[in-house]
Amino acid sequence: MKKHNFNAGPSILPREVIEDTAKAILDFNGSGLSLMEISHRAKDFQPVVDEAEALFKELLNIPEGYSVLFLGGGASMEFCMVPFNFLEKKAAYLNTGVWAKKAMKEAKGFGEVVEVASSAEATYTYIPKDYTIPADADYFHITTNNTIYGTELKEDLNSPVPMVADMSSDIFSRPIDVSKYICIYGGAQKNLAPAGVTFVIVKNDAVGKVSRYIPSMLNYQTHIDNGSMFNTPPVVPIYAALLNLRWIKAQGGVKEMERRAIEKADMLYAEIDRNKLFVGTAAKEDRSRMNICFVMAPEYKDLEADFMKFATEKGMVGIKGHRSVGGFRASCYNALPKESVQALIDCMQEFEKLH
Ligand SMILES: *Cc1c(COP(=O)(O)O)cnc(C)c1O
Repeated sequence: MKKHNFNAGPSILPREVIEDTAKAILDFNGSGLSLMEISHRAKDFQPVVDEAEALFKELLNIPEGYSVLFLGGGASMEFCMVPFNFLEKKAAYLNTGVWAKKAMKEAKGFGEVVEVASSAEATYTYIPKDYTIPADADYFHITTNNTIYGTELKEDLNSPVPMVADMSSDIFSRPIDVSKYICIYGGAQKNLAPAGVTFVIVKNDAVGKVSRYIPSMLNYQTHIDNGSMFNTPPVVPIYAALLNLRWIKAQGGVKEMERRAIEKADMLYAEIDRNKLFVGTAAKEDRSRMNICFVMAPEYKDLEADFMKFATEKGMVGIKGHRSVGGFRASCYNALPKESVQALIDCMQEFEKLH
């Protein structure tokens, strides 16, 4: 039976990206060696990093003066690298979920942290809109897509101070105005590559302004100076990321990814709103295109386990909601075909007919 992969992360990748990575693991570029057993400094591998960086810049229209880094440590490592590198006195954070909160917690070790607003009191079901960003903050940190709660900032905000964004789960799903940010980072395992590589887009002249000592591995300058090759980078995930970037470009780039994301999200939210058995959990205007969260309507609450079983038997994978939200979460990343969304909708409609 065909599986429809709605996993939140690690998550679906285009089939050809997986197949071509598998081929390179057996024989990289006809060298007779596996991608897993060559030096990251081999002459064949440098072009991989170079092209991945170039495609990042091209696809996201990154202005001059920025570097693209491929590091280890995950988005969670960036929660501390960001304040280590940019927080001199004060930073502002928008608290839109568990990931934002974790980022804030790390920053508190480096200076004053102002939580400009929070939706914690409503289980993060919306994104706060009325708040003031202190004009003397070193940066304003946002989480553009809240993977767990299914809320998303679908447009770049305006801020009196430079922004830093965790874009782990919506990078490459829409065009972004990179010039508004000094740093954009994320774990690649949601919408870009298999787990193991972290991407960082960093503005070169924003680095080096804090007065503290920064250990080499945690200093963005080290990785800018060494083109992500200061130590051994995650070779296989970077290669898969490159193939995925080529795929995105061949499909028509981020504008096309956005068009498809809107189309898929509109289809599924329309069904959630129409179907008497289900309700969406996120505020309508903040609904994520990437992670679509819904629960059983109160009067059908006891059907939750039945629907999970029903959907699983029809090939749906990974639709269980995060434990802090409950219900269901369908992650609709770039590689998820529209057919999978339709299959889930069919499932919801068939289940409705039974009740
Ligand atoms: C998954 C996720 C993280 C954590 O990423 P790791 O790479 O596991 O550290 C952080 N932020 C967001 C928005 C996420 O979705």
